[in-house]
Amino acid sequence: MTEEMKKKLLYSAKPSYETADRADIYDFCEGYKCFMDAAKTEREAVAFAKTVAEAKGFALFDRKKTYKAGDKVYYVNRDKSIVLAVIGSEAIEKGANIIVAHVDSPRLDIKQRPLYEDGGLAYFKTHYYGGVKKYQWTAMPLALHGTVIKSDGTKINIALGDDRDEGAFYISDLMPHIAKDQIDKPLGTAITGEGLNVIVGSIPCDEENNPIKLAVLADLYEKYGITEKDLITAELCAVPADKARDIGLDKSMIAAYGHDDRICAYPSMCALFEETVPKRTCVCIFADKEEVGSYGVTGMSSAAYKNFLTDLCAMDNANFNAFCENSICISADVGGAYDSCYGDAYDAKNSAYINKGVVITKYAGSRGKSGTSDATAELLARVTGALDKDGVAWQTGEYGKVDQGGAGTVSTEVALLNIDVIDVGVPLLSMHSPFELASKADIYAMYKAAKSFFAL
Ligand code: MN
Ligand code: MN
Repeated sequence: MTEEMKKKLLYSAKPSYETADRADIYDFCEGYKCFMDAAKTEREAVAFAKTVAEAKGFALFDRKKTYKAGDKVYYVNRDKSIVLAVIGSEAIEKGANIIVAHVDSPRLDIKQRPLYEDGGLAYFKTHYYGGVKKYQWTAMPLALHGTVIKSDGTKINIALGDDRDEGAFYISDLMPHIAKDQIDKPLGTAITGEGLNVIVGSIPCDEENNPIKLAVLADLYEKYGITEKDLITAELCAVPADKARDIGLDKSMIAAYGHDDRICAYPSMCALFEETVPKRTCVCIFADKEEVGSYGVTGMSSAAYKNFLTDLCAMDNANFNAFCENSICISADVGGAYDSCYGDAYDAKNSAYINKGVVITKYAGSRGKSGTSDATAELLARVTGALDKDGVAWQTGEYGKVDQGGAGTVSTEVALLNIDVIDVGVPLLSMHSPFELASKADIYAMYKAAKSFFAL
């Protein structure tokens, strides 16, 4: 067989670090790390996106206004999700190119009645949010992030414990010397949900009852003017403290808390911010609650997003059903990258790999594709065709071996609107752990993929 014929017959792809200038990749990721350090919760991610969008000329969407090609609008849903749109020159009815990512990440939510003292320490009780391996959250510095709404409506944003001059927080673990009973337990039960209690203080005040608890409350009152009752209405969580870090001698990767899924949101918004007058209307939706099933008024199953798109159509007298039929969507979410240390869990031939570009997942789901949206072959070919044309590194990837489990994404919620949707995202190692790992070249590939998709 001739070399030429062999080349034609076999499929091969360039690694992501060979599809772009190394300096461009590393520069882009400096911006990404700043975003990650500023946005550890969905509220913080939305505030970041809103601030940058306003600086880039985006205005709050007004359903009574008529917008023209090139106009940039945003809509914020209860401070926990945001929609950004750049109006295209084509009629809205011809559809939009929509990228949906989620900006919530697995974490430890603080319970509504959190504060107690025991054994000489004060603690916050937690209720974990999303799929976490509980043992990973002990014996490491944690930060406290969230929002306290006082009964008079005053809103206080808290982000405490990330800076080296602030006290961080901590969940203890049992020393191995006396952990025989614990170590004999399966990994999933050795640390319990009720055992994930966050240490918040240790020095008592001069009261007889609950002196450490009262000392913590006095500190909180001094810092934020809040009381134990305000904690009841608050939305607080414990997240890993510290900043995103370069990994490797070559600094080719980034370990950070919450790559899933802000690693798809950031490149997508950067791509959208560069649109001036696109042919088709381009939309980014950064949703909340994906990690707990996309329920709730800020999750992707909320009518908030459909309502926004309906309003967009109404402004142009466009038929909403036609708009949905003609729209295409990338459900931008992370995929699992092959991990040779746990090779048994993967189908190495159908896994995504670090440094091979964005991972396209035709179908997710588990136990025989159950619960998957399964993108059409037509959309798969259209999207990969565009990525090839623009020299964007991409690969396909399943989560792992067929019988090992699986996952879901917002693609199922998007499909409910009769919008053609496909999963495209950045492959990760250690997904859902306190510090997830991703390749810089793949993050940059996600940005290029978003640009390519908006131009489709
Ligand atoms: Mn995700
Ligand atoms: Mn996830």
